[in-house]
Amino acid sequence: MPRSIGVVASRYLWSGVVDDATMSSVRIYPEPGSSSIDLKSLPVDEILDILQAQILELAKEGPIQSVGAGLPGIVRCGIVEESPNLGQLKGVHVADDLQARLKAAGLDVPVVALNDADALAAGIAGTRDTLDRTIRVWYLGDGIGFGRYPHTDGIWEAGHTVVTLDPRERYCGCGGIGHLEGIMGQRAMRLRFLDMEPEEVFAAARHGDPRAREFTWLWHRALAAATATSVHLDGPGRFYIAGPNADFVDLNVLGDLMQEMVKMTPLQGSYFEIVQTSHDLALIGAAVASRRR
Ligand SMILES: [Zn+2]
Repeated sequence: MPRSIGVVASRYLWSGVVDDATMSSVRIYPEPGSSSIDLKSLPVDEILDILQAQILELAKEGPIQSVGAGLPGIVRCGIVEESPNLGQLKGVHVADDLQARLKAAGLDVPVVALNDADALAAGIAGTRDTLDRTIRVWYLGDGIGFGRYPHTDGIWEAGHTVVTLDPRERYCGCGGIGHLEGIMGQRAMRLRFLDMEPEEVFAAARHGDPRAREFTWLWHRALAAATATSVHLDGPGRFYIAGPNADFVDLNVLGDLMQEMVKMTPLQGSYFEIVQTSHDLALIGAAVASRRR
């Protein structure tokens, strides 16, 4: 049975052993219950030190054939070209660096780096026996991630899709005007509602607050618009929604808005589903992807 290690860097550094498409042992930094550390403030050498230690510890449990690392940002050919939410990774040759570190410590295996949302898409595909289908996933967190399986070369930063021409929409973490993340991202929502946390905004909308209701409608329209754009470029299909803010999504509202935005007959039939446990799935997907590349 193929056995690999998957790694994900998000709010935590996670590493886990993946047998076929099932996760067994896992290591998390910082450990749950310990004082919280913001990964944004951790130097890149320290991040690689921690991942190296986690992988070497897990590899003691039995032979592994590869390592896959899911990282936020634009990741191509093993290099993090841009990472707005973990800026210290920009320009780092993660795959080569990690591979060299492991080799020096006696573990000679291929290391693959990929976008964390692509890893999540691969994990959904791998655990649902849908490896033959195209899968797209929105990750709703601090930023907005977009993943696609199967992997195709390109940028695919669909979280930065332009969804409005209003020049006042300038809250995106990348600095671009009118972006999806500038409406839906956690950071962007905090900048927009300086007096309310995002969960308070959604609660106020449910209680009829007009400003909050207007915003949650815009929030759903933005996701429908970016999804409609993806459908017009890449065809209809399955869209999964994951991440800490996935619970804010009303699938009925989203489906209705999509129907208004996608009218051509061959483009009908997309379907949305909310996914829980996305960290496990991203970790599994990173491991699965490392075997396939
Ligand atoms: Zn942006």
